[in-house]
Amino acid sequence: MCLFITADLQLDVATTNAIAQAISTQCELDVFAGEGRFATVLHFSEEHSCACSLLDDSAHWKHECWLLHSEGCALLREALTWLMEHHAGAWTFEMLWNGARSTGELLISAPELLELVRHNQVRNTMTYHVVPSAPPLEH
Ligand SMILES: [Zn+2]
Repeated sequence: MCLFITADLQLDVATTNAIAQAISTQCELDVFAGEGRFATVLHFSEEHSCACSLLDDSAHWKHECWLLHSEGCALLREALTWLMEHHAGAWTFEMLWNGARSTGELLISAPELLELVRHNQVRNTMTYHVVPSAPPLEH
């Protein structure tokens, strides 16, 4: 069993793939689009697979929040920051144990989600709906 960290951008397959490649080029993490019905879902990992290598040794899949080690936390923040800066639309974010299902939904802003990641407070089995960023103010 494995941890999967995913973001569903609700975009088409080609755009999702282009974003995945761009993040992987710009950031340390290997980000890739899934297969089949997950083809529009970004997966965050170190080695093009699950996200288990980002977990702290004391993390447990039954805990309420996911505990990443400090480097894993920094790598995920870097990749999510890039995504937030280049994708202003609505998207969803989940950290789920393989086979587990989300049991709740929360509306959240992109900066709030980054803060949750920073403090290892991303909840298990929760779907975060990231609200679209406000358009830049006109000068
Ligand atoms: Zn794994």
